[in-house]
Amino acid sequence: MKTIKEPARELNVRAEVDVLVAGGGPAGIMAAVAAAKDKKQRVMLVDSRGFLGGNLTIGLPILAFLGPKGNQVIRGEAQKFIDRMRAKGAAGEHKRCKNHMSLTIIDSEQAKTTAWEMMDEAGVTVLLYTFVVDTIVEGNAVKGVIIESKAGREAILAKTVIDCTGDGDVAFHAGVECHKGDKEGGMQPPTLMYSMRGVEVQKLRDAICNDPKKYDMDVMPPEQFRQGHFITVGLRGCIKEAQEQGLNIPVARTILITGLKEDEIWVNMTRVNGVDSTRPESYTNGEHEARKQMYEVAEYLHRFVPGFEKAYIAEVAPFMGIRESRVIVGKYIMTAEDILHMKHFDDAIAVAGYPVDIHHAKGGDCTMLFCDDAYDIPYRVLVPEKIENLLVAGRCSSMNHEAMAATRVMSTCMALGEAAGTAARIALEEGVAPSKVDVAAVQKALLANGAYLGDRK
Ligand SMILES: Cc1cc2nc3c(=O)[nH]c(=O)nc-3n(C[C@H](O)[C@H](O)[C@H](O)COP(=O)(O)OP(=O)(O)OC[C@H]3O[C@@H](n4cnc5c(N)ncnc54)[C@H](O)[C@@H]3O)c2cc1C
Repeated sequence: MKTIKEPARELNVRAEVDVLVAGGGPAGIMAAVAAAKDKKQRVMLVDSRGFLGGNLTIGLPILAFLGPKGNQVIRGEAQKFIDRMRAKGAAGEHKRCKNHMSLTIIDSEQAKTTAWEMMDEAGVTVLLYTFVVDTIVEGNAVKGVIIESKAGREAILAKTVIDCTGDGDVAFHAGVECHKGDKEGGMQPPTLMYSMRGVEVQKLRDAICNDPKKYDMDVMPPEQFRQGHFITVGLRGCIKEAQEQGLNIPVARTILITGLKEDEIWVNMTRVNGVDSTRPESYTNGEHEARKQMYEVAEYLHRFVPGFEKAYIAEVAPFMGIRESRVIVGKYIMTAEDILHMKHFDDAIAVAGYPVDIHHAKGGDCTMLFCDDAYDIPYRVLVPEKIENLLVAGRCSSMNHEAMAATRVMSTCMALGEAAGTAARIALEEGVAPSKVDVAAVQKALLANGAYLGDRK
């Protein structure tokens, strides 16, 4: 690529804080609240978009608050978020599901508002429309980040930085080793979510319950669809039929999610293979392609899926959701074996229950690997190999391709965010780098805030 030389220049220091959280998605919101908990730290959260919430705002349910055995494994601050949402009628129950362990339907707009309320109460300073584009690194420490906004290029200095950008942007710019995808670099494809209204949901329930052979649901028994919220994962035959009749459907399974409104269904079926969200031209092409797919998938639903005869596209997510991009190399790299063997870690800072769920990088299908019970996530996945005062929480924590396909769900990302924020706060209190924090003290603080860490008390 052709290059030019940019002259060195003085930058304004917009803020000096104790903890800077980059990215205000499920992980970042929890990290900021946890870091600000005792009101002693100056905490700032920066997000590139015009709202808080990240993928909480694209029409997805939160999966796996419950583990494979049906007990609640994600609690703490994440549950407090749900309690607030429920008080406004903006979240459903944690409904058990054989495929997803549990699903909790949320209202996207209220998710943004509730996140704001939590920031205000915790005293977190929020800065939106601001991209973190680089870091200021000295030796093994990050001294702050470089941001860009309509105000130009500026710096924010921080004692601790928590990277919750999903893409590991801070870690990458700080020189932390990062990986993308499987052995060939293939990443799970992104999806542009959208909702349809005017759906006769009862008709869809009846079709699945009365003719489960035709309206197959992979591992889920038809009874699961009789009442309450649901996610369909199946109707493979309907897609085949549509494809035989010339429709271009990019996925093998029909994934539909009930909304909070009676006639509302969210559609998780566009998919653009080969997109890399860290390359703007690739992400742009993905958005372009997904928008075309959206109408073709809607036509498929109209013609082939009971209940959609009069349905129409009502709402489109504000951006195409990214399932996978960079993950960091941390002090520990979690693997699918850890998950499937439910390995215990002395430094567990979260217990999660979602299975390995890999949307294939090529083709339109998926691999699911279920475990019998919940599994520990060790603190070390939040701590990069180098850079002592940086923590990385959410889908970019230190996991291999298969493990991140399990830990990427939002409930788990919230728990990782809470753990990172708590560790940052305690490390500052102890006067040590987060990489050297007393993990037992972090566990104690998490438990005191209602988190679940297995049989640790
Ligand atoms: C299509 C799809 C379907 C999914 N289905 C489900 C589901 O049903 N249930 C479930 O629980 N999970 C689901 N997931 C997974 C889940 O949504 C994500 O893995 C999870 O949201 C990751 O959380 P996060 O906080 O790490 O990142 P994100 O939610 O991506 O949040 C990252 C935040 O950082 C901001 N940001 C990024 N870069 C920068 C930067 N450089 N500077 C400043 N801000 C920045 C972004 O604006 C965003 O707000 C799905 C994901 C996708 C894409």
